[in-house]
Amino acid sequence: MTGALTMHIDDHGWCPQARQLPSPNFDARPAGTAIDLLVVHNISLPPDEFGGHYIEDLFLNRLDCDCHPWFDRLRGVRVSAHFLVTRDGDVLQFVSANDRAWHAGVSTFGGRERCNDFSIGVELEGSDFQPFSAPQYAVLAALTTALQMRYPLRHVAGHEHVAPGRKTDPGPCFDWQHYRALLAAGEPATLAASALGFPETA
Ligand SMILES: [Zn+2]
Repeated sequence: MTGALTMHIDDHGWCPQARQLPSPNFDARPAGTAIDLLVVHNISLPPDEFGGHYIEDLFLNRLDCDCHPWFDRLRGVRVSAHFLVTRDGDVLQFVSANDRAWHAGVSTFGGRERCNDFSIGVELEGSDFQPFSAPQYAVLAALTTALQMRYPLRHVAGHEHVAPGRKTDPGPCFDWQHYRALLAAGEPATLAASALGFPETA
């Protein structure tokens, strides 16, 4: 994917540029919650293997847990993220960003618990041990900008930052500086990356 990439979030919290695969794993956010945090994750199923349909199967509660030994631990697991960005830069959306997806689990940000209440979760197909792809950074930046235009986002964090000691994603291979640089170079200029807070290590 090259050149300017423009994404959009509609009034219902869905992105027309994404492949929409509605997951049953969501519920309403607490009334009056400001959606001000973007949580970046990585996921691959099985770990460190890319491609295939297992991630979407997991989020749609249709993963065949008998088809790989590692999947045994996923029996009965009910999780989701709002978005998944594949290695090729394709975007899948599972939950309206207006609603609460089940991506962060036990988590804290800025003294507030239950990050799912007030965050949007973006999964990057990847692992803690392999670099992410150029299309993934481009799409993540465009998606971030689109979400900034729809929601009062103020912070970006990794899952590892909101659940330290429990989660490690997106991990050391995620290039926060590159992500921030793409955001800063994007349009509209009024939504500069400086409008967002980032992890101190980024
Ligand atoms: Zn995660």
